[in-house]
Amino acid sequence: MRRTLFDETHEEFRANLRRFLERKVVPEYLGWLAAGAVPRSFFTEIAALGVQGMAIEPEYGGVGIRDYRYNQIVQEEAARAGVTLGTLRTQLDVIAPYFLEYSNPEQRARWLPGIASGELLTAIAMTEPGTGSDLAGVRTTAVREGDHYVINGAKTFITGGGLADLVIVLARTSTDPVNRRAGLSLIVVEAGTPGFDKGRRLDKLGLHVQDTVELTFTDVRVPVANLLGERDAGFSYLGHNLAQERLAIAVGAVAQARAAVDLTIDYVRERTVFGTRVAEFQNTKFELAAVSAEVEAAQAMIDHAVIELVAGELDSADAARTKLFCTEMQGRAIDRCLQLFGGYGYITELPIARLYADARVSRIYGGTSEVMKSIIAKSLGL
Ligand SMILES: Cc1cc2nc3c(=O)[nH]c(=O)nc-3n(C[C@H](O)[C@H](O)[C@H](O)COP(=O)(O)OP(=O)(O)OC[C@H]3O[C@@H](n4cnc5c(N)ncnc54)[C@H](O)[C@@H]3O)c2cc1C
Repeated sequence: MRRTLFDETHEEFRANLRRFLERKVVPEYLGWLAAGAVPRSFFTEIAALGVQGMAIEPEYGGVGIRDYRYNQIVQEEAARAGVTLGTLRTQLDVIAPYFLEYSNPEQRARWLPGIASGELLTAIAMTEPGTGSDLAGVRTTAVREGDHYVINGAKTFITGGGLADLVIVLARTSTDPVNRRAGLSLIVVEAGTPGFDKGRRLDKLGLHVQDTVELTFTDVRVPVANLLGERDAGFSYLGHNLAQERLAIAVGAVAQARAAVDLTIDYVRERTVFGTRVAEFQNTKFELAAVSAEVEAAQAMIDHAVIELVAGELDSADAARTKLFCTEMQGRAIDRCLQLFGGYGYITELPIARLYADARVSRIYGGTSEVMKSIIAKSLGL
């Protein structure tokens, strides 16, 4: 269906990115998968297209255009090319907004040029072994001692934590007996700070080119100058930024479901069973027709939500609706597509199997489907 949210500048960016992915990433991608990692050089190379610096002010080496549609294009083009770009999506869609919105001028001068050039890689550490959905239960502490915070605690499931140079850590800086959400702060911990250990890399079902790690903090002394925004205001910052994080997961979900449909159409046209191309079975046509309709419905929802986000009007309930619908659709759509590959669909050498494995986490991270339903129900007055 015709999409109306992109202008010529977006399309030019899309074309440059498409060429870059075709030339630089697609030929290397099986190597990345075998290594289970994206080389650091990828981040500086793609930064030359303005990807990481798009929203960063020119005085800090960026382009100075805050427009989520550029991030959307990155995910759409990656899915189209049949690749995932390691932790780039998390850095762009989830973490960059914290630096852009809450850093002070001194911090901007210190960190934004490196982020724009792809030399400084970032992660965000909210989840803990005992606390995921219920982030107000964070137990990592940051106690002020003179000009430093002393951080103690453990985090888990941290995307890009292994590669990251800067990790935004959600920690408790005070306790309010009435309001559990009060007293949380965001503090930037730099790799190499004594007591900050990057632990086990977790072996995942999918998303094999990005690292997901455990982090531990033992008496880690971090300058007070690394506090992002106001002390004790961390929870409200999370609430503000989670709308974009959730929309971004939904954008990837729809782009990958669309890629699955395209891959499946190619496959069923080639594969012959009982002397007939699989594409000729009525079941195949009906399955792909139904999935295609679901993808287009989700795309319309996404594009509408992106326009609302760009206008600063996407609220948390609508972001939750969009994530819930699009990620559940992704799971159904890719499963139905994979079925049409028969046994080959189960072999991870084929992109459809990787799409299937990668898709499962969309309904979990950034807030589970159940948490999305709770948010939506609350907005209904329930
Ligand atoms: C690959 C991957 C990457 C990740 N990257 C990051 C990252 O970079 N940074 C970060 O901080 N975190 C990250 N996470 C963590 C992720 O956000 C959490 O896993 C997610 O929020 C769920 O938390 P949990 O795993 O503790 O599940 P739990 O909170 O233990 O949930 C267990 C089950 O209980 C259900 N549940 C919870 N609350 C309710 C409720 N109110 N009503 C009904 N059911 C409920 C959940 O839906 C789920 O089914 C990542 C996770 C994965 C798997």
